[in-house]
This record gives sequence, structure tokens and C-alpha cells, in this order.
Amino acid sequence: MSEDIAAQYRIEAEPYYRAVGSEVELFRAAHARRMPVMLKGPTGCGKTRFVEHMAYTLGRPLITVACNEDMTASDLVGRYLLDREGTKWHDGPLTVAARIGAICYLDEVVEARQDTVVVIHPLTDHRRVLPLDKKGELLHAHDDFQLVISYNPGYQSLMKDLKQSTKQRFGALSFDYPDAGVEAEIIARETGCDLKVAEKLVQIAHRARNLRGHGLDEGISTRLLVYAGQMIAEGIDPAHACQMTLVTPLTDDPDMRETLEAAVATFF
Ligand code: ADP
Repeated sequence: MSEDIAAQYRIEAEPYYRAVGSEVELFRAAHARRMPVMLKGPTGCGKTRFVEHMAYTLGRPLITVACNEDMTASDLVGRYLLDREGTKWHDGPLTVAARIGAICYLDEVVEARQDTVVVIHPLTDHRRVLPLDKKGELLHAHDDFQLVISYNPGYQSLMKDLKQSTKQRFGALSFDYPDAGVEAEIIARETGCDLKVAEKLVQIAHRARNLRGHGLDEGISTRLLVYAGQMIAEGIDPAHACQMTLVTPLTDDPDMRETLEAAVATFF
């Protein structure tokens, strides 16, 4: 039964991930000890792709949960639901992962409320248990279970930050946009666009990233560059492709938009 469930969460084909440092080796060692790991870095820089790649190479199912502020502990752990036969317990994604020995990836965990986040605490220390209070069950995590969270330090504010008591339960790997040459290689490989075009896209991104904190909350992510490369590979004029993927999504401010358009015009 739990093998059937695990099969649903197995990744069939190897997700392409270009290592940028020693993150693969470090994660492998942390996984060997089932250490909880935090992936820190801006949005769209490769954290999710990395965890997908690691789950595949380690042969573990992966259960991903996108966290948000309305999420309750029950959304993670599970709840009783009413059906024709009466009330029936339904495991939440965290519980499923702990039962089947999956890697559970809580994306943007800082978005979740503190009272939701604390449910992961007993899973992250030597106890490796998850109390299902409403069900009256103390679940002992499967030996292969590992918890991974992502966290974007850019969004950090006094209102929204992880408590030290949560942070200090994780080993952490820092992610950032890759160096220019590597990022261009990733974009060309991901989209099939020409490497020369990918290099120009990266240069546009570097200009926008310099505006971070000077009118832009976040720079152009690798994800957006991949979108730009995809549009160009589909035969769209590069200037139009960049407008749609690198300028319009990023800002509503007319001055900032003009600045970004000027950066695009320098290259295309
Ligand atoms: P995050 O989880 O950090 O928000 P993602 O992992 O979804 O970002 O990355 C966005 C996209 O960028 C991926 O879908 C992939 O196309 C590309 N990407 C970023 N970094 C890498 C990398 N090192 N190797 C391969 N692809 C990458």
C-alpha cells in the first residue's frame, strides 16, 4: 500500500541540474544522516530543481508543499473529512511523507504562520515523530524520511521570519543566481536557444539585479530567463520575448519599466 503511494511521488526522469558548488555532495551527506536541510536563496534560482534532482539521484519519492499564510497545521498533518460512510481520517502531505519515507519539501516556509511551522519541530530532532493529535496517533517517521525547506531571505521582515527555534533545526545551503557563464549554459540547455542569445539574456538580468533594493524588490530570476529563452526558441522576436518575460512581470512602476526596456534595447 505505502509502496503504491510512494510510486506516485517518484520522479521518473532525471531532472537536469547544473551544480554550481559543492551543494550536491553536501546534500548527499546530510541526507545520509537524514539531517533537515534549508535551501536559502532568491526566487527562481534553482532550489526546487536542485531538490528534484537530489530526490531522483537518491531514489526517494518527493512530496512538495507550497506554503502560504492561510495554511494550517491540519493542511500539513491531516484531518477528518466527512464522506458517505462517516468521518474518515486523511493524511496531510507531511504525514504521507513521514509514513512512506519521502523527502518532504516545504517551499517558502516563511509564508506559513508560526503555529503551522511548529508542527515540524518534533520531526526535526532525534525523536523524528509527528503527533497526530486529533487522531490520537504518534507517528514515527520512516527511516528514509527527510525534511527540506526553502526560504527566501529577501522577503524577510520583522513580521515574517523564521524563529531561531525553527532555523536552528536545519543545516542550510545558500543558493544564488549562477555565474554568468554557467547561467547562460543552463538557459541554452533548458530552452534550446542559442548560447550567444542566452549570454545576452544573462547580461540583461545582471543589469536588473543591480537595481535590487533601488526600486526593484527582486532581480530577474533564472526562471524568467528560461521563459525568455523559450519564447525566443519558439521564434518570437527577442525584444518582444524580453518585454513579456523580463520586463512586464517584474514591475508596475513606469520609470523602472523604462529602465528595464532600455537594458533590453542595448542587447536586442
Ligand atoms: P526556486 O525553487 O529557487 O524558486 P527553480 O528551481 O524553480 O527556482 O528554478 C527555476 C528554473 O531555473 C528551473 O526550472 C530551471 O529551468 C532553472 N535553473 C535554475 N538553476 C538551475 C541549475 N543550477 N540547473 C538547472 N536548471 C536551473
